[in-house]
Amino acid sequence: MTIAIDRDLTWSTLVRSARDIAGNALEEVRSGAPDTVRPPDAIADLRSAGLLRATLPVRLGGSDLGNPRTPGAVRAHLDVLRTLGAGSLSTARIWEGHANALQVIEAFGGPGAEAMLREIVEQDAVVGLWNTNDARDKARLTAQADGGYTLTGGKSFASGTGLCALALVGATLVVDGEDRGWQLSLVDTTDETVTADTSWWDVMGMRGSVSGTIAFGGTPVAPDRLVGGPEDYHRQPWLVAGVARYAAAQLGAAEQLLVELATALRSGRRDTDEVQLGRVAEVARLLEGGRLWLDRSAALTEALGPLFDPAATVGDGDAARLDEFAAYLGMTRLSVEHASLETLRLVEQALGARSFVRPSVVEQLHRDLTVYLRQPARDASVARVGRWVLGQDLGTDVLWSR
Ligand SMILES: Cc1cc2nc3c(=O)[nH]c(=O)nc-3n(C[C@H](O)[C@H](O)[C@H](O)COP(=O)(O)OP(=O)(O)OC[C@H]3O[C@@H](n4cnc5c(N)ncnc54)[C@H](O)[C@@H]3O)c2cc1C
Repeated sequence: MTIAIDRDLTWSTLVRSARDIAGNALEEVRSGAPDTVRPPDAIADLRSAGLLRATLPVRLGGSDLGNPRTPGAVRAHLDVLRTLGAGSLSTARIWEGHANALQVIEAFGGPGAEAMLREIVEQDAVVGLWNTNDARDKARLTAQADGGYTLTGGKSFASGTGLCALALVGATLVVDGEDRGWQLSLVDTTDETVTADTSWWDVMGMRGSVSGTIAFGGTPVAPDRLVGGPEDYHRQPWLVAGVARYAAAQLGAAEQLLVELATALRSGRRDTDEVQLGRVAEVARLLEGGRLWLDRSAALTEALGPLFDPAATVGDGDAARLDEFAAYLGMTRLSVEHASLETLRLVEQALGARSFVRPSVVEQLHRDLTVYLRQPARDASVARVGRWVLGQDLGTDVLWSR
């Protein structure tokens, strides 16, 4: 299906476009295309649907999608991610990084933000958001005597390797030999000092996200390409809010598995068996639970709207709200993970070995979802929830804010 350009970029149009893009991805899987073929086509689809600029403010040609200070925008952002995830978690992953990079530049980029964003729009570039260090050679951004910076070391799990002409890269800032904290900068990945390696990404699933390794060999970074100050990327509620975005994409893939399950049971005339009906009911219940967690997370994100302003001061009461928010989003992540893992297990039992014979949407989603469920610091999320609960007065009948 051809993706039409819609200059209005309403949120409902964006969700509709995401549905078309997901539909294209599913068609390709059904036609037996290898999962590494898709990324350039998917990016072309995202571009023509206007999704590459959707999270920009309206004044820069975007639609404010995902802005916690715009009522309904976070919920709409999660809807787009869930819809993309139903067709291709790899496309959802690349778009999520790009869309978030634009938000971070806009919020923290200071006086240079507008120029960086205009450059991205003019190039129609896909931007990577690369934080995960290459464990063998961590990224460092070293201040030079002439006022500029030099990037060395490497990144792994860099989604969009070879596809992103620009990337927002996190690195340890080094000034006069001293570490000053985690610093983001917008880097030209086509610079001759940047080496991209996709061969490392030889994985079971998510192959289409091309999450390879990047080596920086003294890449120059101008001072006006620094985004925010040291540790801004780790500021709350910004960092924790991202949990709902990957959970939304994961849930979309799990929801598509239910669609595939229902279709296969009906066409195989196995849809009246009581045990199979029980599996369908259980999957439907778990996935609806995931939706409710996402809806509530979106509402809580928007309730904290003013605290997303980088200039906001965090008072004592706010600190408690931020802790509760982090714990709540941790529960969202764990609940969607549980719902997804159970869906994988039940769909596997319901459809049997046949569903893994390619070309098969179930086979593709199974591999991709299994890999994409592995997100950072899972155990820390569990501990955070437990710590928060034990820190509350459990004698009252309300544990979470209403
Ligand atoms: C498809 C895909 C695309 C990605 N794209 C990007 C991207 O574009 N940009 C980017 O920056 N990153 C990206 N990532 C990386 C991602 O953000 C995570 O860093 C990555 O998935 C690692 O998760 P993990 O569960 O394997 O982590 P690990 O940290 O290796 O955790 C594995 C397990 O060990 C536990 N654990 C963690 N630390 C400790 C400890 N100190 N002691 C004991 N146990 C511990 C964890 O809780 C977990 O249970 C991507 C990942 C995937 C899968």
